[in-house]
Amino acid sequence: MIKKLIHSLTALMLLSVVLAGCGESKTSAEKGTQSQAKQEEFVWKLVTSWPKNFPGLGMAPEKFAKQVNAMSNGRLTVKVYGAGELVPGFEVFDAVSQGTVQMGHSGSYYWKGKIPASPIFSAIPFGMTATEFNAWLHYGGGMELWQELYQPFGIKPLPGGNSGAQFGGWFKKEINSVEDLQGLKMRIPGLAGEVLKSAGAIPVTLTGGEIFSALQSGAIDATEWVGPYNDLAFGFYQAADYYYSSVWHEPGTGLEFLINQKAFDQLPADLQAIVEVAANAVNESTLAEYNARNNAALKTLLEEHKVQLRQFPTEVMQTLKQHTQTLMAEQAAADKDFARVWQSYSDFLASMREFNKLTLQSYYENR
Ligand code: CA
Repeated sequence: MIKKLIHSLTALMLLSVVLAGCGESKTSAEKGTQSQAKQEEFVWKLVTSWPKNFPGLGMAPEKFAKQVNAMSNGRLTVKVYGAGELVPGFEVFDAVSQGTVQMGHSGSYYWKGKIPASPIFSAIPFGMTATEFNAWLHYGGGMELWQELYQPFGIKPLPGGNSGAQFGGWFKKEINSVEDLQGLKMRIPGLAGEVLKSAGAIPVTLTGGEIFSALQSGAIDATEWVGPYNDLAFGFYQAADYYYSSVWHEPGTGLEFLINQKAFDQLPADLQAIVEVAANAVNESTLAEYNARNNAALKTLLEEHKVQLRQFPTEVMQTLKQHTQTLMAEQAAADKDFARVWQSYSDFLASMREFNKLTLQSYYENR
């Protein structure tokens, strides 16, 4: 019995030695590869369209950089610059395209002048919510179309966060009818701005940092920005009395990471994977952050700052929706790429609308 036990123990020990041997040789081989790879270090500059460390939008690239630096064990260091630190907020696309910097973080609707279809990858009035949009991008053909659009500029796009449904915005006077939109100067970018123009307003494009003083001085009568979390940080409640919670112009705005394709191609496969995984993680966590913080910030706006919360009348919403449909048809007729991307987007939206009618829409009413 004891002999048998000793025999088994010896066999076990031998086995352990053999295994340990294998492990060791494997480990040193791995170590060799790792130390070779460690010598190859990359430092990337990432420019953004947001003020440095701005809550939500500006923190997405910061989180990305932190995760890439940690996952790559310092082999890829990403340094984040706020708008204007290296290049102005509206020049992020060009800087990445030209290779002045390796990466950018922005919103695709800023590039409408270069790529008419680009706004479809950030926000479409009366379009998809964040969840629907991510489903389209990853499983509905959206990513492939986006890559095709940016490819001629040497840029690889990746989803870079989502703000969730944005608020209608801040108004110095109440909007009780379509009449009240006539001549209204509102900071509102992209396609939504054009919709508002069709409805009689005057859309103005300003970067985040320029809005507050324009609203306070009366250079503009109204502004949209994001939602309570970001809007509270900008202090808009000090410059306008009415806050409209109606969701219409940006029902789930996607942000973007822009990557210089050549810089990406120079990375070894594991670092490329790290960049993609970190971007995806940031895309998800940004939406979660907005969902959590918007509600808390809205309470602060209403209770501490006595903001007057409003909703657009149905008449206004219906008018904006009609103008949106007309505008989308015009854009599709004017640009082949817009038509192609819009077809894919609107087909997916139509199927999601039906699906959600059967599921979440009634659930929200009943829970
Ligand atoms: Ca916005």
